[in-house]
Amino acid sequence: MDTQVLIVGAGPVGLTLAIDLGRRGVRCILLEQKDAPQFLPKMERCNARTMEIYRRIGIAQKIRDAGFPRDVPMDVFIVTSLTEPPLLHLPYPSVAQARNQIAACQDGTMPLEPYQLISQYTLEPLLKSVAEGIASVDVRYACEFISCTQDGGSVRARVKTKDGATCELTAQYLVGCDGGSSLVRRQLGIKLTGEANLLQLRQALYRCDDLFDRIPIGKGRHYHVADAHNSFLIVQDSTRHFTLHSVVDSDDDMKTMFEQVVAMPAQYDMLYVGQWKQNLLLADSYGQGRVFLAGDAVHLVIPTGGLGMNSGVGDAIDLSWKLAATLQGWGGPGLLASYEIERRQIGARNVDASRHASRGRRAWRAAYKPNIRDHTPEGAETRAELARIADVEQRKSNEMIGAELGYRYAGSHIIWPEQGEAPATDIMTYVPTTWPGARLPHVWLDDGSALHDHIGDGYTLLRLAATQSDTGVLGRAFASYDAPFTVLDIPDQRPRDIYGYDLLLLRPDLHVVWRGNHLPDDPVKLAALANGH
Ligand SMILES: Cc1cc2nc3c(=O)[nH]c(=O)nc-3n(C[C@H](O)[C@H](O)[C@H](O)COP(=O)(O)OP(=O)(O)OC[C@H]3O[C@@H](n4cnc5c(N)ncnc54)[C@H](O)[C@@H]3O)c2cc1C
Repeated sequence: MDTQVLIVGAGPVGLTLAIDLGRRGVRCILLEQKDAPQFLPKMERCNARTMEIYRRIGIAQKIRDAGFPRDVPMDVFIVTSLTEPPLLHLPYPSVAQARNQIAACQDGTMPLEPYQLISQYTLEPLLKSVAEGIASVDVRYACEFISCTQDGGSVRARVKTKDGATCELTAQYLVGCDGGSSLVRRQLGIKLTGEANLLQLRQALYRCDDLFDRIPIGKGRHYHVADAHNSFLIVQDSTRHFTLHSVVDSDDDMKTMFEQVVAMPAQYDMLYVGQWKQNLLLADSYGQGRVFLAGDAVHLVIPTGGLGMNSGVGDAIDLSWKLAATLQGWGGPGLLASYEIERRQIGARNVDASRHASRGRRAWRAAYKPNIRDHTPEGAETRAELARIADVEQRKSNEMIGAELGYRYAGSHIIWPEQGEAPATDIMTYVPTTWPGARLPHVWLDDGSALHDHIGDGYTLLRLAATQSDTGVLGRAFASYDAPFTVLDIPDQRPRDIYGYDLLLLRPDLHVVWRGNHLPDDPVKLAALANGH
């Protein structure tokens, strides 16, 4: 066997999976068809949950150091150009301000880490260098996956190398992180279902060194243009690069559009123009046998709300510990089977959330009229009406904290089926809960540290507020599977108040398996369920 896990595709999802598998001691080969990461614009915002995940992996600070400056606000504007008074200005805190808000928050309603703007072309090389630094990860660029077959014990993949030669690689598992047109998915005969080709836009990348400092209407990250072309300008992480998206007829038009939006003399280079399509699609299945799929290979959203790569990082982190547990012999057969059950429902939820957000954008754009810049009462009326609608509708793209933090693995067979009615979830609001399947809310301890940071990479039983419960039998049950299990005593009162129970069983990805004030009647059954047996 050449490796334990063969990963196809070194986008952000494949790279994150490789890093987390490597960190867990799993041997993997990561194949990427490109010769090297490319300087092409795509995503630019890691959401709060992704940054919590990167904190656990130990790379959050590296990402922040490479990303958007911490003091620059993340505001969103709706404009007619960069020099006219904005029609709407939605302020959002800079990372530094968000950190202060998080530091002051004691009720579990905020994430441990704020979002971070970092361009995909900065993030990918950074993740690549982290992956390359892990001994058990073998990163191979200029290697194209061609095909695969599987049997009960392994997967065989045909791979083409740069010199045109093909070779065969064998692995215990294969994960297709090969993007929207995933060959791995197509080879499995798995279809994407939903709405394809909703809109085709052009995207251009510009370098303009002094523009950001000269924007007179205020600093931010997105400038949506109220025009007939669906245009929006995005500030990239360096603040010297910008992308403009627009529905126009030719690549050359992207220069005219940039100059119209900037509306002041500016020295710039247009570095790239390409086309992309908006889709809302979900794969019918997330894998087959020993082959799994993650990221854009299984869900394609309209990037407006930033749920593309961020959903994929969630897939990677759900799959990673389950693969490690299975390969290391302490995870039962139900662990890998739970991947599709847990993550496909989140894929569906995020496709819906993205639809909701993009409908909001369409709603305010429908209020556009050609007289929007006229200095007439009718022009003023158009501006006011568009701003009034956008003040509600644009927020749907920018404020999806419930989608980011409030997702829960309902109906998973490795989550304890608590009796009663689960609290409702909403994509726009986050209400902290420890209902089984939810992400453990972030809580500060009395010593100023974050409870999340005390939780290790195996199963953890949290014992709160000095409970005297004897939990030895649960530890022995996990030990019978050789599963990593730790009891963490936290005497502080605040987590007990927020979490609502004395005992919580957590999985390696910080999702709650079970909660209660005493162990269930059959703790052995709880360990077996959590561990996929
Ligand atoms: C304009 C735009 C803005 C966006 N903004 C955001 C945002 O702010 N936040 C967000 O979360 N998402 C955003 N997204 C979405 C985000 O870019 C994608 O969701 C993300 O890139 C998906 O990552 P991935 O690793 O699954 O796939 P990809 O990034 O597509 O990576 C797949 C990799 O697989 C490789 N590959 C494919 N086939 C093979 C093969 N046969 N052999 C070997 N390698 C192969 C490809 O070369 C590629 O490197 C945006 C997208 C666009 C278009």
